[in-house]
Amino acid sequence: MKITEIRSHVLQYDLDEELGYSQQYYTKRTAHLVEVRTDEGITGWGECFGGGGIALANKTIVEQVIQPMIIGMNPLDRDVIWHKAYNLMRDHGQKGMPIQSLSGVDIALWDIAGKYYNQPVYQLLGGAFREEIPVYGYGMMLQRVPDLKERFKTDSAQIVEAGFKATKMKIGLGVKEDIELVETVRDAVGPDFQVMVDANHAYTTREAMTLGHEFEKMGIYWFEEPVAPEDHQGYRDLCEALVLNIAGGEAEFTSFGFRDLIKNRCVDILQPEVCALGGITEYQKIIAMARAHFVPVVNHVWGSAVAVGTNMHLLAALPDFPGAAHPVQPMLEYDTTPNRFREELLQKPLNIQERVKQSGGTIPIPTGPGLGVDPDPDFVRHFEVN
Ligand SMILES: [Mg+2]
Repeated sequence: MKITEIRSHVLQYDLDEELGYSQQYYTKRTAHLVEVRTDEGITGWGECFGGGGIALANKTIVEQVIQPMIIGMNPLDRDVIWHKAYNLMRDHGQKGMPIQSLSGVDIALWDIAGKYYNQPVYQLLGGAFREEIPVYGYGMMLQRVPDLKERFKTDSAQIVEAGFKATKMKIGLGVKEDIELVETVRDAVGPDFQVMVDANHAYTTREAMTLGHEFEKMGIYWFEEPVAPEDHQGYRDLCEALVLNIAGGEAEFTSFGFRDLIKNRCVDILQPEVCALGGITEYQKIIAMARAHFVPVVNHVWGSAVAVGTNMHLLAALPDFPGAAHPVQPMLEYDTTPNRFREELLQKPLNIQERVKQSGGTIPIPTGPGLGVDPDPDFVRHFEVN
């Protein structure tokens, strides 16, 4: 089998309402899908992390840089292809956009392999450790509205009502404002519901320390990206000073990048983003390091149904470490803010929200060959902007 063509599809539409996080607000929803075609008629799908102009630039990397490097190669040679593309791009970017671009291609190769062997991808990864995956409902994004606290109150209550096992909210408005926001959500969901907060690296270590002590009093489960991803010392200081879990990893890339984060115990919970860090091939190497250092993993998930579906396979195949009769199960992160690329993209929708509601917070692992994330071609054409 040979790779014959790699096409990148950037999809976009205008959101009804602006959404934001600690770094910016945005009005367009983007998804960047990668389609790898073969001479045997098998097509694989993947996704690259990064919206807006980043997606358009990554499209050029996928089609103009990576495609010529690997065209004609056997798509089943995933590790060989990964190393060839990485080695040729190394001098031009060991993190960031080249690696995001490679991620989408690599994920599509795993989809091809699953379809070729007629097996779900989690089977190729070593099998399923669980039949059901617990799901947490992420919501409460920042908005420039006067009634933000009211909205967070309503949204978090809806996430509890929808059946999710836990919830996550954005912060990053300032120390005082964040404490009030988190208190609002804690009051809305009650004292026992698991709540996580995500600062998207808006703070200095000292500010994060102050916030962390307050979050501990409120029983917050994890504090995500408190400081800049490059600030390993800041991460370590927070882990040592605070009792609550420090989480991070979504802005780290490849096993080379994750090596120091894991080895230096910078996080209590590692959040690898498969659509950014280099794809499933590299994710496996990162998981092996996390396992050897006993660092729990809860994947970062963001994007279209392709990203969500991919992570369902990864979470099915993620071992419990250290292992026990009643282990804490890794959760699927599920964004609950409006996203047509999550709800309407696939020929066979994932129906996560309905399944969560029915089961009381879990979804069954996928069935069928590959990743099970084939997009509806008419939908792709309609929203494609390139
Ligand atoms: Mg985050």
